[in-house]
Amino acid sequence: MKDNILVKVEHVKTYYPIKGGFWRKTIGFVKAVEDVSFHIEKGETLGLVGESGCGKSTTGRTIVRLLQPTSGSIIFDGKNITSLKGKELRSMRKHFQMVFQDPYASLNPMQMVGDIISEPIRNYTGRSPRETKDEVVHILEKVGLPADAYNKYAHQFSGGQRQRIGIARALALKPKFIVADEPVSALDVSVQSQVLNLLKELQREFSLTYLFIAHDLSVVKHMSDRIGVMYLGHMVELADKQNLYTNPLHPYTQALVSAIPVPDPRKRKERIVLQGDVPSPIHPPPGCVFHTRCPVARRECQEVKPVLKEVRGGHQVACHLY
Ligand code: SF4
Repeated sequence: MKDNILVKVEHVKTYYPIKGGFWRKTIGFVKAVEDVSFHIEKGETLGLVGESGCGKSTTGRTIVRLLQPTSGSIIFDGKNITSLKGKELRSMRKHFQMVFQDPYASLNPMQMVGDIISEPIRNYTGRSPRETKDEVVHILEKVGLPADAYNKYAHQFSGGQRQRIGIARALALKPKFIVADEPVSALDVSVQSQVLNLLKELQREFSLTYLFIAHDLSVVKHMSDRIGVMYLGHMVELADKQNLYTNPLHPYTQALVSAIPVPDPRKRKERIVLQGDVPSPIHPPPGCVFHTRCPVARRECQEVKPVLKEVRGGHQVACHLY
């Protein structure tokens, strides 16, 4: 593994079992993530985009081992964490944290902010109460919250401030890697850019590596160095952001990019509107999973699954056209 790679995901599948019948036996699987491989370099932000249900959140949760992958491997900072359990997983957890979409749901509104942020410090380090409090006040300042937030309850804060509390909690153990799962989509547009800019500042200051998950392509573009596009559990395209937005190769990415609003009417291109619905991840189509909606599908697309391959300078695509 190259030294500058922090996260390496190899052929990861994450399936959710479907239980049914009197004995609650497994009668099928939701194939949420299907054979996904990519890496993230140290200090980089990799964006993941796709419609809801495409597997991007499950991918993020699998990498930080909130979910057990069904198969494949996850290498974090040179260590295989795929099957870690118990104490070993707990000790690795301080290196990777998650910022969740909904700050209302992910924080206990009846807990004081100081307790929310000190909890991981108390659980994972041998710091004294005094040192812990100093550390929490320092983190509050870093995320732009006043020191008196320490003694207030999470429910006393606005949405944007609550997300700052969520970010402070994620930072408490000085992680190397953060999965930010739709961190601004529950917030007012007016505060979204403040939170995004805060994430960028913190990345610079603490040399953080991000997996940034969002359905909004403009937000992902603002944040990411490279971007992966997911469709029905598959990674269909992966490229640096400039290439992805100016020269999208996969027909699904082309449709997503064509839907981004362009303020200048002279630069607007025709929007590609996809027909039909996303198929069920319980019974994904054979061949290319996008063939049921692809405007340029051919016969082989119905039978042969395209693999993600590099077509030029780091630009990868899974499509028989290339
Ligand atoms: Fe469309 Fe075929 Fe390419 Fe799939 S492989 S995106 S169906 S052209």
